[in-house]
Amino acid sequence: MQDKYLDEMGQLFAALARDPQPEEALERLNDAVRRMVNCSDMGLWLADDTQRMLELTVTNMARSNLTQTRLAYGQGMVGVVAEGRRSIIVSNAQWDFEDEPLAQARFSAAAGVPIVWQDELRGVLVAMDSQAGHVFTMRDIRLLEMMALYAAALITTHNLQITFAQTAHDLTEERERVLHIQTATRQMLEEPDLRANLLEVTRAIQALGWGDVVLGLYADNYTVDELITVGIPAEHEETLRAGVVPHDIWKLFLNGRLEQFRIGGFYYIPAHETGAAWEAGDVLFAPLRLGQERISGVIRVDAPVDTQRPTGTRLRPLDILASQAAYTIENARLLEEKALSAEALADQVEELSMIHRADRELSAHLNVDRVMTLTMDWALRRTGADTGLLALMTDDERGLVPLITMGHLDEEILRCSEQNPWPLDQGVMGLAATSGQTQVFSDLPPEHEYMQFMPAHAQALVSVPLAMRGKVLGVITLAARNNRAFSQHETSFLERLARRAAVALDNAHLYRQSEQLADDMAVLYSASRAITATLERDEVLQRIAQSMAMAMECSSAMILGYHSETDTFEVLIVYKVGTVRDAFEQLPDPGMTISFDQLPALRQTTEKQQSQVLRAIDLEAGNPIRQIMEERHLQAAIMTPMVAQGELLGVAVVIEGRHDRVFTTSEVFKAETLASQASVALRQSMLYSEVLELEKIKSEMIRMASHDLRNPLNNIMGYIELLAMNLESMGVNPDQAQYIENLRRGTKSMQSLIDDLLTLERAESQRQSEWQTFDLGGLVVEVIEAVNTDVELKHHTLTLQREEGVPTVFGSVTQLRQAITNLIGNAVKYTPDEGQIEVRFGYHNDRLQFSVEDNGYGISPERQARLFERFYRAQEPGTDMIPGTGLGLSLVKTVVERHGGQVWFESEPGAGSTFGFWLPPIDEPPEQL
Ligand code: ADP
Repeated sequence: MQDKYLDEMGQLFAALARDPQPEEALERLNDAVRRMVNCSDMGLWLADDTQRMLELTVTNMARSNLTQTRLAYGQGMVGVVAEGRRSIIVSNAQWDFEDEPLAQARFSAAAGVPIVWQDELRGVLVAMDSQAGHVFTMRDIRLLEMMALYAAALITTHNLQITFAQTAHDLTEERERVLHIQTATRQMLEEPDLRANLLEVTRAIQALGWGDVVLGLYADNYTVDELITVGIPAEHEETLRAGVVPHDIWKLFLNGRLEQFRIGGFYYIPAHETGAAWEAGDVLFAPLRLGQERISGVIRVDAPVDTQRPTGTRLRPLDILASQAAYTIENARLLEEKALSAEALADQVEELSMIHRADRELSAHLNVDRVMTLTMDWALRRTGADTGLLALMTDDERGLVPLITMGHLDEEILRCSEQNPWPLDQGVMGLAATSGQTQVFSDLPPEHEYMQFMPAHAQALVSVPLAMRGKVLGVITLAARNNRAFSQHETSFLERLARRAAVALDNAHLYRQSEQLADDMAVLYSASRAITATLERDEVLQRIAQSMAMAMECSSAMILGYHSETDTFEVLIVYKVGTVRDAFEQLPDPGMTISFDQLPALRQTTEKQQSQVLRAIDLEAGNPIRQIMEERHLQAAIMTPMVAQGELLGVAVVIEGRHDRVFTTSEVFKAETLASQASVALRQSMLYSEVLELEKIKSEMIRMASHDLRNPLNNIMGYIELLAMNLESMGVNPDQAQYIENLRRGTKSMQSLIDDLLTLERAESQRQSEWQTFDLGGLVVEVIEAVNTDVELKHHTLTLQREEGVPTVFGSVTQLRQAITNLIGNAVKYTPDEGQIEVRFGYHNDRLQFSVEDNGYGISPERQARLFERFYRAQEPGTDMIPGTGLGLSLVKTVVERHGGQVWFESEPGAGSTFGFWLPPIDEPPEQL
């Protein structure tokens, strides 16, 4: 069953999925509303960010008509729809509101529906008509509501697009920042001069978008030893020497009283408590620390170019640069010490060059694995240890996961994974991670707890945390045979190495995070497109489940539909990713009913309308939900309510059955975003199938009514004709004769109405199996011959211009004959006597072209838009007495479009019209139609 509404709706959604150009799509929506809902005007008011005002965004009305384009919530019918979030119909100009812009614009009827998305009002969609007596029905409201969902999806997709672009932009900026840091540090490391190096750091900070930068190196007691500045006039340097950071602030800092102002390694002390902008008097600085205690200097930075108060994200690159500066100072000091000592030992020189090389390698690479392998390698080489393990902290800080191992470690530790990390309360590694301090042991017996996964010969152990800004990112652990391994000297080397590795790790984290964000956005974006690309309910469900499982990287996903009458859920679809289709979790079959009692977790999800994260091992042993999860082998799940326009549609469940999993907040957010898109898609598909059902019933009724009417009508017509023939013998007077003539005309028009309806219905439901390949030109000649009587009756001149060698078409002969008959018939009908009619048939631009030109009454522009609608008749002066049903052109359009072509027309009132269509040529029947 094909219908223009469904086609139209389908095209709308296809357009959205294909290329969501918002302006174009909204225009398309505008068009669709007017055609489907049958109204003269439409308007789309969008809610602004304040959620208090509406702005007219798309409309086909002349702006002068509607003077007020901005409305407050509650103002006029549109405002009331927005405020109450419910649909409203106004008929017969019964406007309820005093200051009603629509009344002022002389509209007599309107139907408005709210556009809601994720529980937020996005706008109002309104169909309007200015003709007196126009009435909107509930069915119009349904159609509008469906289109409002489309608009909501469109607006959201558009927003998503913007965010997407923004993320991509941020990412590029982030990359640029990382590059800045890299170049700065690389240059710094190639240049042995400390002053030149630090100048490099200050310049790099400025290049990142900050104002003047001062770097002070401290001698004892925080007196400034050396001052490095950019952008600061020489006369100010004197004051700075007295204290880079104002004395009172520095004192508070030393006493640990500025911790609430700390952002990463920086301290930001605004002059005023509130505000978003940087103000004169604000102080931003970072102490340059060596290890936990020593402060070797300070960096102070002035107002950023964007004049906003600094955030964690903005300060992170600065942090990395500050750490680099601290290490550079440390290197220089080490070098100095070494140079002072007369007998510089060979291995100390080597150590220094190792650190130097480490610095270069670490800052040159964003590849964590490579950097950590190098770190491990240097650690072993320098200390003479034979076994080593570098483990990283999991994102949720639950434990450690081995990244690099060297030597022979027990398998137990290698089995640890992101899901099952090494617990922080165990072993020397845990101790180093929780204390943040280096742990050194010698002479440990093999059965000692700390020797748990170490080789049997090991006797000494050292564990060094990789820490950045007080946060432990990982731990390096080494074991050696010699029980006197890991001298003070070696451990401090390890600490220095660890600090550098931490910087590299942090840098790579920064990079990975932004990549991850971009990935997430891309996944969401493509999932939302996949979900909204179709209207078939089963297909929609399938796509939702699949997109959710894939985007969340879970083993399966399930959609439960809510039935309000029975207060139960039905399993609508279950999707398992390919690789685990036969394994792990046992999920209910589609079609199964689930009550709240059977799955108590549903209650919470639906009542609070909030997502719920379930993790089997977090639940107590006797908990019924845990029992269900265990029986069915589900280890973790997120349950998200699916709500569209305030109505609960169901619950989306993403499930992990392969292993334990902790869902992060951003993952839950991702699931929620997907679920809300899915809700709208699901609701649309439900409405769509309702409309399908309605259309089916309507067609059925038309068919039944016309079949049942046709026979009795033919009977009546027979008797009337009989009467008309015997008028004289019956002795009727002229009045009575006129009555009978009226009867005859009325019945005739009923007959043609029914004939047209049936033809249209047949064209719509006819199967393509009856199609054939034929010569359309021959058919045109046939039709012209058939209408010849009418042409002669009206003394028209009809000519045919027919090109030779036009390819054949593949299609229905009956349907195309009817279409051509209607077009030529209309030209004959709507042209006054002695008119000129020219029929043309030919082949241009790879298409078969047919047209009929007449010099008849023509159609005025304001009536042209609706010509192809069913039952529409354009009443022009002179044509009101011409009988017709308003179904002819609608049939032409249906038939031509079913054959893959398009109709067109041009008309000028009083001068004439040209109606035509083109069709694609088909020599061979296509394989599948
Ligand atoms: P009908 O002819 O039965 O009214 P159609 O669907 O064939 O219905 O045409 C719709 C309307 O378009 C007509 O009522 C008429 O007003 C207008 N129309 C169609 N063809 C022509 C034409 N060739 N010249 C002028 N008006 C036309």
